[in-house]
Amino acid sequence: MHEFSFAYNIFKVAEATAIKYKAKKITEVLLEIGELTLIVPELLQRSFEMATKGSIAEGAKLTIKMTPGKIKCRECNKDTVVSITKEAQLTGLQLFQCSHCGSNNTEITEGKKANVKNIKIQE
Ligand SMILES: [Zn+2]
Repeated sequence: MHEFSFAYNIFKVAEATAIKYKAKKITEVLLEIGELTLIVPELLQRSFEMATKGSIAEGAKLTIKMTPGKIKCRECNKDTVVSITKEAQLTGLQLFQCSHCGSNNTEITEGKKANVKNIKIQE
């Protein structure tokens, strides 16, 4: 399951930060996810609960902010903001068209990363 290993990595990042600040508990984790990672937020929430069970992050709130993807056209060099449709999520289709010239010769420049933006802790 894609989401579980993802949730586990988030937990590890948050835990390392909490240990650094000698925190007793993690109360909230703020996360930014690129839309093109194909992460399903509901599944991630559930995986996060499982991954943090029995740890200092148990019961922590996971706040997810989705950020749009961006592609760059190799033909006309312009950027297009792309969004994943439900259908594309199911098939894993990742072919994006330039909205300026219609070319499929594009590359993804943003939206494939996830970042822990902030965590809230209890000392
Ligand atoms: Zn183009």
